[in-house]
Amino acid sequence: MAASWLLKSAQCVMTMDDAGSEHVSADILMRDGVIAAIGHDLEAGDAGIVHCDGIVVTPGLVNTHHHLYQTLTRAVPGGQDALLFGWLKTLYPIWARYTPDDMRVSAMAGLAELALSGCTTSSDHLYLFPNGARLDDTIEAAAEVGLRFHPTRGAMSIGESKGGLPPDSLVENEHAILEDCIRVIDAFHDPAPGAMVRVGVAPCSPFSVSRELMRDAAILARDKGVRLHTHLAENDEDVRYSLATFGCRPGQYAEDLGWTGDDVWHAHCVRLDAEEIALFARTQTGVAHCPCSNCRLGSGIAPVRAMLDAGMRVGLGVDGSASNDGGNLVEEARMAMLLQRVDRGADAMSARTALHLATRGGAQVLGRDDIGQITPGRRADLALWDVSGIESAGSWDPAALLLAGPRKVRHLFVEGRQVVRDGQICTLDLAALARQQRSSAARLAAG
Ligand SMILES: [Zn+2]
Repeated sequence: MAASWLLKSAQCVMTMDDAGSEHVSADILMRDGVIAAIGHDLEAGDAGIVHCDGIVVTPGLVNTHHHLYQTLTRAVPGGQDALLFGWLKTLYPIWARYTPDDMRVSAMAGLAELALSGCTTSSDHLYLFPNGARLDDTIEAAAEVGLRFHPTRGAMSIGESKGGLPPDSLVENEHAILEDCIRVIDAFHDPAPGAMVRVGVAPCSPFSVSRELMRDAAILARDKGVRLHTHLAENDEDVRYSLATFGCRPGQYAEDLGWTGDDVWHAHCVRLDAEEIALFARTQTGVAHCPCSNCRLGSGIAPVRAMLDAGMRVGLGVDGSASNDGGNLVEEARMAMLLQRVDRGADAMSARTALHLATRGGAQVLGRDDIGQITPGRRADLALWDVSGIESAGSWDPAALLLAGPRKVRHLFVEGRQVVRDGQICTLDLAALARQQRSSAARLAAG
């Protein structure tokens, strides 16, 4: 594997820099994991050369919300047509049967699927740890696939017997949760530029942990200098639960417990009202918008146009593979664009804006200024899209990828290392992984 690469004569390089620059017939030189130069007729030196005729280059896409463990429970019959709470109650008993190896296999499959769809950085939200499973299992998986990874140590502590949604067998003691958060941060979190792993703290949702754990998690995260993540205002049921249980809307609940700020991002926020949007914009609180999951669970259309107009930070997420049921991030960006148009008209979101959310937007939500754009000095995380195929044939604007373009990458580089080559994952045996995944899923289905 060459340590340096020269991408030669790309049809278009969409930099996603502040000016939105797009370069035609341009070269990109990657050296030591970093973008060293962009220009014309660059010298290769000892770098490997990738000829890029008919290729559009974008920054690697950034996925801001996922539950990688769910890749083994796609299209489960009892959950196919249920709303959020009913869907969760169908799946909890199945998830309770997971082993550490299931966690690893499921994460690898989910990350491989993401990589093929142009994703170079993914967050993950793991909030159940049955039968000895640990956050470590997913971190190991990400290292094998070769993606940049932001795992968050999730948690559930209020079981059914205390008025929560999950079964008692899947909840943990709150003291043990905080102790394990400290363990994984100390073991894996890397604050340095170019970090391949950054850990976050992420109680599952206001309806599965106590008010005290939400507050203590925020204190711990700030003490350790890591980010906070949870689910918020996902649908009407979720808002009703907040009003009935806490006597306030989700935004107020978040603010009261320290869950606003530029080090916090919330998944979904489909039902934020105008006041909550203003609060999140003012505090620079981020949102992971997951349009396919919102469609799949009938949650509604998140007010993304209003969020952007207010100056909020918005990234995209595929959400767990049990509520999508895929994990294709470029499809997610297209869905984000389409859904705003359903709500607000054809000029509500352009293809380039949606791609901006999938790259720069996601990087900002994860607190990273070293990725998300193609400029010298940024990390060499690049997605190469072949626009010479049938999906792009007849397109007058190949850079409008989300209107007409491939849904899988031709090549993918992370930290200057090639993860996808000629449309295939080159870091692992995908067929063997799919076999493992099928056998794990069959065992879980057998009960
Ligand atoms: Zn989620």
